[in-house]
Amino acid sequence: MSPSLYTLIEASFPDDRSRIALEAPDRVHGTAEWSYARLGNAAARYAALFSGLGLAVGDRVALKVEKSPEALAIYLACLRGGFVFLPMNTAYRPDEVDYLVGNAEPGLVICDPSAEESTREIAARHGVRHVLTLDADARGSFIDAAAKVTDALPPAACGANDLAAILYTSGTTGKPKGAMLSHGNLASNGIALRDAWRFTEDDLLLHALPIFHAHGLFVACHCALLSGARMIWLGKFDRDAVLRELPRATAFMGVPTFYTRLLSGDDFNRNLVGHMRLFTSGSAPLLTETFEEFRARTGHAILERYGMTETGMNTSNPYDGERRAGTVGFPLPGTDVRVVSDEGELLGSGEVGGLQVRGSNVFRGYWRMPEKSAEEFTEDGWFRTGDVAMIDADGYVHLVGRAKDLIISGGFNVYPKEIEELVDDMPEVLESAIVGVAHADFGEAGVAVVVLRPNRELDEAALLARLKQKLANYKVPKRAFFVESLPRNTMGKVQKNLLRDTYCDACRS
Ligand code: AMP
Repeated sequence: MSPSLYTLIEASFPDDRSRIALEAPDRVHGTAEWSYARLGNAAARYAALFSGLGLAVGDRVALKVEKSPEALAIYLACLRGGFVFLPMNTAYRPDEVDYLVGNAEPGLVICDPSAEESTREIAARHGVRHVLTLDADARGSFIDAAAKVTDALPPAACGANDLAAILYTSGTTGKPKGAMLSHGNLASNGIALRDAWRFTEDDLLLHALPIFHAHGLFVACHCALLSGARMIWLGKFDRDAVLRELPRATAFMGVPTFYTRLLSGDDFNRNLVGHMRLFTSGSAPLLTETFEEFRARTGHAILERYGMTETGMNTSNPYDGERRAGTVGFPLPGTDVRVVSDEGELLGSGEVGGLQVRGSNVFRGYWRMPEKSAEEFTEDGWFRTGDVAMIDADGYVHLVGRAKDLIISGGFNVYPKEIEELVDDMPEVLESAIVGVAHADFGEAGVAVVVLRPNRELDEAALLARLKQKLANYKVPKRAFFVESLPRNTMGKVQKNLLRDTYCDACRS
């Protein structure tokens, strides 16, 4: 049996375990430096705590907390004990948490102390046995409970196919789907990235991404942990903090918005990046102009890569060799990609079609949705990404669009259907369409186009305010427009491309 991801990570710890795994310079109360010894010990004790609460291998541990070293140790505890880690976006509102908890049925939910009351109500409704709290500064009932545990849970004997994590991604059906990721998926992708991007013990990764998403949790943390490197752990992307820490770092990973924000002031310049060897970008398209401006300002070519929750990383621009703006590079070792027509025929270089992937990185399907999972795979076992792509004559993959109509706002996915359902439920509304348009800061943002029922009134501010009650802020459209009717094609489908054209300038300034 291949080793669990935990065993692999632990085997990658530096021989000298007093070396620092992560430091959290923004931390106000909890200790700011975590050695590898401390991280490993915390994972072993936290795993014993979960086991003591009655959790068994395969049980889910849901987490909706601010980023902290303890949160990372909880992830490692799950990997060690064979519990399935289920991180939730910190911006989720109670309705969204309710759906996820009801669907995943975790044995334990860990939440911020400020959300304890609503989380307890949700947990009680779904028969969840345990709720604990944890804040960004290591306070809460989780910390109190963990302090009483002195024993270590031995690592569970997890194989490559056993579940390590479930990450929810919103779906075109409107309801989020739980992507099931195995120890083998995460381990193979982590090793591929560590090696492709040349991570070693000498690296210092400046980590400013959230850890409820595959980018910050898997891509960034696995590169660091599987090489015994050190991380500077920022609670969030804060431009000043990044500028302050950058001169010490060797690597930085970001969504395109991070790079446009860094470039927004002259104080980001060559002097800050003398120590750096790698900047990577992903989760949304990096504009060629950002790539070029960054290179002119710093001398560094941002390495753009492409992946998704369901697959981890699929392609990457080369570490050595030409990083081409506007492309996402070549398939990573262990991953195959192909472009096919709507009829399923294999397309040649330069031809545009649906991008499909296959490999040890591809997930095990959606949690409790066997039919939906089966639909996403071809008969010969390739996963349909929903991205539209072209592979050029040199083998570089170009993403040219998204078949699934997804909006990516500030690096986060927003699925129009989920918002349309909420708007359509409003008594004044007949129907609606949500489309993505260019946004100066977020890259893309949602715009709501709404048809009201006869003789009913609703204004933009009221509509957006109602959505804010129900949805994480990044999902709330930035503007709403009222129209007589939505444009439709002969098949009755709303022509979102026309709406995108009409409202293309709505969020530019
Ligand atoms: P997520 O599951 O949140 O990681 O989102 C996955 C989606 O993000 C992919 O299916 C792509 O549409 C998009 N994406 C990821 N990386 C890139 C990239 N480098 N350029 C363009 N789109 C990207």
